[in-house]
Amino acid sequence: MKRYPSYLNISEEQFQKRIKDAEQILESCQICPHQCGVNRIAGEKGLCRSTAQVMISSHNAHFGEEPPISGIHGSGTIFFTNCTLRCVFCQNYPISQLGNGNPVSISQLSEMMLDLQKRGCHNINLVTPTHFVPQIIAATGQASKGGLSIPIVYNTSGYESLATLKLLDGIVDIYMPDAKYTDNAIAQRYSGAKNYFPVLKDALREMHRQAGDLKVDRAGVAVSGLLIRHLVLPDNIAGTDQILPWIAQKISQKTYISLMSQYFPAYRAMEYPPLSRSINRKEYHEAKHILEQCGFENGWLQQ
Ligand code: SF4
Repeated sequence: MKRYPSYLNISEEQFQKRIKDAEQILESCQICPHQCGVNRIAGEKGLCRSTAQVMISSHNAHFGEEPPISGIHGSGTIFFTNCTLRCVFCQNYPISQLGNGNPVSISQLSEMMLDLQKRGCHNINLVTPTHFVPQIIAATGQASKGGLSIPIVYNTSGYESLATLKLLDGIVDIYMPDAKYTDNAIAQRYSGAKNYFPVLKDALREMHRQAGDLKVDRAGVAVSGLLIRHLVLPDNIAGTDQILPWIAQKISQKTYISLMSQYFPAYRAMEYPPLSRSINRKEYHEAKHILEQCGFENGWLQQ
């Protein structure tokens, strides 16, 4: 019988093979779609400014995520330092852009996972994990041997390579990507991501193939599936009118959508009008209208 979470079904041998495959990718790094080709094991850095050394800013129980993720006892967040994107409006910029954090070993990362489980958290919520996927696989393998038995949430910008996502198949139970933009030029200008929308579409399809629609237990806590976040931006910069219909038609109307209204101009956003202002009520109202028109059955609204 299949055990839950999914990583409990992966043998030690399979973990070792995935770790080896993933580490090889780090030698000429292709972990994310930037495909920098640097040798991170030898200490080189690509666009994410990270060597193979894992850096973490914090790990803690977090109660501000969507209800099925935070549940009653909190989501066990681990915030990874640096990011594969360069969002000029990042609200986590001290961690993602300025490099705040401390080095940790694979064993320490696995101990953090076990500590969060001990504190009663419902899941391990990996925040901005992409550039450290090989090390995360190794740490999950160790933690699994040490008794980890809560699901892994992969909390990402959505800018993912298919090869890296395939390494996570059967390890991650809950995918929580952003769907940031539909216009590639805008994604390049504000987040330094080339070809963002086609990459995002492929990534969302793969995440849904692996995990399916979001499923919750009797207490309403997520056990597996896909939850997509969409941050509404001023002047429809995020392409809300395109991304929501695409998800409804090509992924599933059962997709849980978190339609976020909390945009404010953080980090360098004041230099990039119209990102220099918050969204207004009319913009969020229009976004909600689009969501309703798409026929989604699940999700969360704000305001
Ligand atoms: S993970 Fe970092 S080094 Fe590797 S391809 Fe992406 S940005 Fe470049």
